[in-house]
Amino acid sequence: MADRPLTLMAVHAHPDDEATGTGGVLARYAAEGIRTVLVTCTDGRCGDGPGGAKPGEAGHDPAAVAAMRRQELEASCEVLKVGHLELLEYADSGMMGWASNDEPGSFWRTPVAEGAARLAELMRHYRPDVVVTYDENGFYGHPDHIQAHRITMAALELVDLTPKVYWTTAPRSAMQRFGEVMREFGADWEEPDPGSAEVVEVPEIGLPDEEITTWVDTTAFAGQKFDALAAHASQGDNIFFLKMGKERFAGLMGVETFLRVRDTTGAALPENDLFAGLR
Ligand SMILES: [Zn+2]
Repeated sequence: MADRPLTLMAVHAHPDDEATGTGGVLARYAAEGIRTVLVTCTDGRCGDGPGGAKPGEAGHDPAAVAAMRRQELEASCEVLKVGHLELLEYADSGMMGWASNDEPGSFWRTPVAEGAARLAELMRHYRPDVVVTYDENGFYGHPDHIQAHRITMAALELVDLTPKVYWTTAPRSAMQRFGEVMREFGADWEEPDPGSAEVVEVPEIGLPDEEITTWVDTTAFAGQKFDALAAHASQGDNIFFLKMGKERFAGLMGVETFLRVRDTTGAALPENDLFAGLR
């Protein structure tokens, strides 16, 4: 095989997404000797400030929030043994519809071609065998997640590489159980009422189980994933998983799931390894 290490590149929107979506696989593949590269596209400045202050509220200094989140991201990467952290440092666009979507330098208003060119440079440098990002809806509709998807898919067109490409997802079978646990721990989670008109507004999150191509067992790394999430303490109010405690978390979050969207290996589906067919 190639005279360079097998390489996993994960492209994420904000500090903390690396832990939420891919903490298990980052930790597991690092432990298996695979080189792991995390690309974080934004600085997370629209996250919570001290005391949970939101952007625009007193006590929310975007530059200070970004600096804090950079430290937390580095701590998370240490926990997950991420080999290389690359920061694109676009301004966090905030939630869909916020005025920050349109601020100069925001990731959302950055032309896809510009972000893709920068990411392609990193792909040429690291030559990833596996690339992971979000689906076209950014999993749940956050503009920066959608933009991370767009620049990743565009960058792949610019490089002379044929990595396996995956989008993070969640099995629908787990969503109900997840909703129950969220309610148990006091989260504001409303089960959609099938009789109400509101139901059409609820975005379809995740995939039917039979459509999921890739189920990676990360049970042994759930503790590391929890600790990586905990490293993002300034956003703790938004990280629901921390409320359930490490043990419960490990029981619930032992598998990470993906949709394989590009492949040159022919590895049979469903598979249980992002690197199936590559080693
Ligand atoms: Zn995010």
